[in-house]
Amino acid sequence: MRLRFWGTRGSIATPGPGTVHFGGNTSCVELTTSDGALLIFDCGTGVHRLATELMAKVKPPIHANILLGHTHWDHIQGFPFFSPAFVKGNTAAIYGPEGSRGSLQDVLAGQMEFTYFPVELSQLPAAITYHDLTEGDYTINGVRVATQFLNHPAMTIGYRVEADGAVVVYLVDHEPFSDELWRASAVPGRIESILHEGDRRHASFMAGADLVIHDAQYTPEEYQSRKTWGHSTYEYVVQVAAAAGVRRVALTHHDPTHDDRFIADIERDARALAQRCGTGLDVFCAYEGCEILLEGGLPREASTANPSHQASVAQRRFHVLVVDDQPDMVTLIVRALESDHYTVSTVTSGQAALRSIGERMPDIVVLDYKMNGMDGLEVMKSLRAEDRTRLLPVLMLTAMSDEPSTRAGFDAGVTDYVTKPFSIPQLTARVRACLARAQLQ
Ligand SMILES: [Zn+2]
Ligand SMILES: [Zn+2]
Repeated sequence: MRLRFWGTRGSIATPGPGTVHFGGNTSCVELTTSDGALLIFDCGTGVHRLATELMAKVKPPIHANILLGHTHWDHIQGFPFFSPAFVKGNTAAIYGPEGSRGSLQDVLAGQMEFTYFPVELSQLPAAITYHDLTEGDYTINGVRVATQFLNHPAMTIGYRVEADGAVVVYLVDHEPFSDELWRASAVPGRIESILHEGDRRHASFMAGADLVIHDAQYTPEEYQSRKTWGHSTYEYVVQVAAAAGVRRVALTHHDPTHDDRFIADIERDARALAQRCGTGLDVFCAYEGCEILLEGGLPREASTANPSHQASVAQRRFHVLVVDDQPDMVTLIVRALESDHYTVSTVTSGQAALRSIGERMPDIVVLDYKMNGMDGLEVMKSLRAEDRTRLLPVLMLTAMSDEPSTRAGFDAGVTDYVTKPFSIPQLTARVRACLARAQLQ
């Protein structure tokens, strides 16, 4: 397969003399298989030049598969300028995560309303189809594609693509689940030594890939004041990728304030770190125009049509039980969840939580760790001891971000562990990811 980077910038397009090398266009990567399947990851401003090239070089009709990680502006803003969509006979299949406040089609139509753009989405002459995705395995234009939720303040998915015997994983945008990457008592550098189950799942998703394209917007120093914004550091990416036995990593979603010189320094530091990891991982900073040919060693398998895991979380009204003894926190959480159309009930103690669950089973519990009387861990012990609540999704929400507490939470059987400070969109995205996964069990 062949890959080409058309947009490597995060957040906002930044053309100018300082970004000539790494590029100023926002996220867009083209992947073409030897069978001629065209997959486009994200539709940032970079898609404009890709569209121009497709129109000039591909014999019509053009069949494009657009795989959106999420629908923040820098990942969809180029779509109204995707010229093949303006030609009758062409097709565009658009894939992306189901948003919490509307379908993929609604969200894309929103940015093309008359106030913002002269042509409405429904007026485009090409045949456009929309496919809301959750976590699972899909076949897209004959190509095997697996998806997994990322940690970002919006529903966001990563893609793992297997074609032509090679594996490419696209993970943009994503933030570490935990400040601490490794379990204190374990040997660092292995997937099983990763502390937070979210980070471990993330590492497993990229395991053995020939190429991982990963958000690395911040330096470790910058990240300290940008937590909860939903982006990674090269340090996290390199360590996780090395543990996962990845061959090559392309760092992307470069920060708009980073000029070419700055990004070159990041690349040097990332390479030095990769070398210290000692797994032979090759890392570089993606630049516009960068082209990669991949011929992996995977045996070619016949792809089976398995549009599995189509469970939808948008079509149901879920019941969330919030357990927290701090009234301010409860108010904040309830407001956030209600605006995402959940039915929310609240209790202020562990004992009351167990009573409430006994009377009416919620779909998910948001549980505080430290409470007066029965604390979150004791609640977990009771829940996991009983058959009917053994698999009940529980998201623990806590100020305790240290390694022993995180570990105690997961050992007690929590489904996810979210630490303060958190942002509201981040919390609602994590709740939604837990619910979507529970639907698939
Ligand atoms: Zn982004
Ligand atoms: Zn984003």
